[in-house]
Amino acid sequence: MANETNNFAELISHCKEYGYIFQSSEIYDGLAAVYDYGQNGAQLKKNIRDYWWKSMTQMHDNIVGIDAAIFMHPTTWKASGHVDNFSDPMIDNKDSNKRYRVDHLIEGFADEQSAAGNGQLAEEVLKSMDALLAKDDYAGLKKLIEDNKMKCSISKTCNWTEVRQFNLMFSTEFGAVASDNPDDNKVYLRPETAQGIFVNFLNVQKTGRMKIPFGIAQTGKAFRNEIVARQFIFRMREFEQMEMQFFIRPGSQMEWYNFWKNERKKWHESIGIPAEKLRFHDHVKLAHYADAALDIEFEFPFGWKELEGIHSRTDFDLKQHQEYSKKKMQYFDNDIDPVTNKPYGNYIPYVVETSVGLDRLFLTIISLSYAEEKWNKEDGTEDSRVVLKIPAKIAPTKLAILPLVKKDGLPEIARQLMDECKSSFMCFYEEKDAIGKRYRRMDAIGTPFCVTIDHQTKEDNTVTIRYRDTMVQERIALSDVKKLVLEKIS
Ligand code: ATP
Repeated sequence: MANETNNFAELISHCKEYGYIFQSSEIYDGLAAVYDYGQNGAQLKKNIRDYWWKSMTQMHDNIVGIDAAIFMHPTTWKASGHVDNFSDPMIDNKDSNKRYRVDHLIEGFADEQSAAGNGQLAEEVLKSMDALLAKDDYAGLKKLIEDNKMKCSISKTCNWTEVRQFNLMFSTEFGAVASDNPDDNKVYLRPETAQGIFVNFLNVQKTGRMKIPFGIAQTGKAFRNEIVARQFIFRMREFEQMEMQFFIRPGSQMEWYNFWKNERKKWHESIGIPAEKLRFHDHVKLAHYADAALDIEFEFPFGWKELEGIHSRTDFDLKQHQEYSKKKMQYFDNDIDPVTNKPYGNYIPYVVETSVGLDRLFLTIISLSYAEEKWNKEDGTEDSRVVLKIPAKIAPTKLAILPLVKKDGLPEIARQLMDECKSSFMCFYEEKDAIGKRYRRMDAIGTPFCVTIDHQTKEDNTVTIRYRDTMVQERIALSDVKKLVLEKIS
C-alpha cells in the first residue's frame, strides 16, 4: 500500500511510466495543477465514472442522469451566489510574493506540528481556525498565523499581507462581438456541475414525470482557480465531479441527509475502499447554501482529506433561480399529508447533494492499489515486483492473452480467444519477451488476469491462468476463460 508519504513520489512516477497520468502539455514544461490521463488512466477513470453512473441511475429507479453544458448563462452564477461568495480567504507572503489559502497554510503548520510530536498545539490551532473561519474573522486569522510564527515555505519569513478574499471562478469571453465593457460578454467556466442540474430541474421533472423524492445525477468537468494547487491530482484547476441532487419535501432534509451519508460511505466500500480508511467530518463553517454539511474523508498518502461532500442545500438554489429568472421553480405534490389530510400542494423542493471528485476517487483507488512487494524464492534469492491491485471490476484491462512463443500456431489460438472476449471486456494481447517479464508488466499496469497459451493448449485445450494479486497459476479449459473473467468482474 502507498499510504506512506515516502511512497507517494514513487506512485506519481509509476502513474507516468505506465500510461496513467501525464502532466498537461509536458513538452512545454507543463501547466500547474492540470493533468492528462493516459491510455490506462483514461480507461480507469471511465470505469469509475461508469460504476458511479450505473449505481446512481440504473440501480435507483428514482434517479436519472443528464449532461448539461459547461457554459451557462452568467446570471446562473449571480443567482447561485458564486460571483459574490465563491472565494477563499488568502494571504500573501510579502518577501516571496507566494499566495496561500489561509486554511492550507494553517493546516500545513498543524501537520508539521503533529509530525514533530506537538499534537496538542496542532489540535488547538485547527480548532481556533475553524472558529475564526466560521465568523469570517480575517484579522483573527492573521493574528493566529503571526502568533504561531507560521512561515512561507519559500522565503521562510513571517512577513504577511492582510487576509483577503479571492474568487475561484475562471471567466472568459463569449462570442465574437467586441464590446467596450468586457463584462458584457463575460461567461464563467462552471466551478461545480450542480447548477446545470438546478436550472434543468423542471425540464427533467416534467419530461420524466418524476415524483418527489427523486434525484438528478451528472458527471462532468468543473474549473476552479485554486490558489494553492498541490498533491498531484488531489487539487486541480480543471477536474471532474460526479454529483447528484436529490429533490425532497421541505422538512425531510435531515432524514435524507443521513440516508445519503450512509449510502455513499457504503458505495465507497463497495468499490474496494476499506471502511477503516473512510471517516465522516462534519463542517463547522457551512457554505452559504447549506443547513448541514459533511465530508467523507479518505486517508490519502498525505493524510485524511475530503473525498466527497454531502450537503443539505435547502431550497436555496431553486429559490434563487426562481427569483433571478422570474420563472416558477415549484413542484405540485398531490400526496396526502397525514397531519392535515390534504395534499402537500405547491412548494420549492429541498435538496440533498452528494458530490464526489472523480479525480480524487481515482487517486484514492490508485494509492490503495499501489504495492511494492518483495519475497524470497525457493532457491533463497529475493524477488520483487510493483503491482497495482486495482479491483478487477474497475481495472482498465481485465485480461492479458499471452502466447508462450510467437510460433507453432500459439498466436492463432490466442487471437481466437481475443476475438471471443474483446466485445465483453477489455483485453490485451502480447507475444514479445519472456513470459515472466510480461507478467510483471501486467502487474504494474494492474491487469487482474493473464492467460498463457502454450504447447499443451494444442493437445488438451487448456491454458494457464495467472491471478495478479496472489500470483497463483492454475490450468483451466480454454473454453472457460471468458466465463471465469466475467464472473470475477461482475
Ligand atoms: P476542498 O475543501 O478540498 O477545496 P470543496 O469542499 O471545495 O473541496 P466541494 O465544493 O464540496 O469541494 O466539491 C465536491 C468535490 O469535488 C470534493 O469533495 C472533491 O472531491 C472535488 N473537488 C473539489 N475541488 C477540487 C479540485 N480543485 N480538484 C479536484 N477535485 C476537487
